[in-house]
Amino acid sequence: MLADLYDALLFDLDGVLYLGSDPIPGAGDVLAALRAAGKRVAFVTNNSSRRPEAVAAHLLDMGVQAVAEEVETSAHTTAALLAARGIRSAFVVGEEGIRSALEEVGVSVLGGFPVEADAVVVGFDRGADYPKLRTAATLVASGAAFVATNADASFPAADGTRWPGAGALLAAIETATGRRAEVVGKPHPPILTAALERAGGGRPLMVGDRLDTDIAGADGLDWDSALVLTGISTRSEAVASPWRPTFVLEDLAALLRDP
Ligand SMILES: [Mg+2]
Repeated sequence: MLADLYDALLFDLDGVLYLGSDPIPGAGDVLAALRAAGKRVAFVTNNSSRRPEAVAAHLLDMGVQAVAEEVETSAHTTAALLAARGIRSAFVVGEEGIRSALEEVGVSVLGGFPVEADAVVVGFDRGADYPKLRTAATLVASGAAFVATNADASFPAADGTRWPGAGALLAAIETATGRRAEVVGKPHPPILTAALERAGGGRPLMVGDRLDTDIAGADGLDWDSALVLTGISTRSEAVASPWRPTFVLEDLAALLRDP
């Protein structure tokens, strides 16, 4: 089967294993078959607002067996990266997922409107307002490390509309300061290398539904990738894309068949 070319399979979530709050039929069975064949798996999400436990619980609701230890969120990768650099304090534009991930590695999350911080961290934040953006921009302008969990332009809301994503909030701060943040989430390498470390193994296949994040990210690391057509990107977009998936698959079940 196709999956036998690899020892680790890294899965994007929305558009691959579920669609918002609807399961993708058969996804849970495919994952179970891959596990039974001894494949290592990890789940990768740019969304920094939810904790790994909540992500795993949602996967279980969608019929996909998962535990928190298999989930790499952009929040977790960001926290690990900052801790490794000796960052001790951060002002955060972001929700519970990134806040708790930072606290767990010993980076203190500053409340109110601080005048000093080692770092400014930007993620998806449904409570962001002008004072928060102003504080973040002021700290960035005065030299704080500037890191974004991800730069997704929009967030796919449950009702099908698109809300401003982390990238839209980030753009406000970048525009105000003229500084560009270091971005951790897909298509940037940190989250993908962290996910592979989490899965273990050395021959990864990235499985995703978006050319500009999942496939571009794999491309940047010279990893093979599979675009599944159950989400955002289409076959004709894949043909025209600068990022070339190794495989284009109608659905996840194709992982269990010969290429
Ligand atoms: Mg997706």
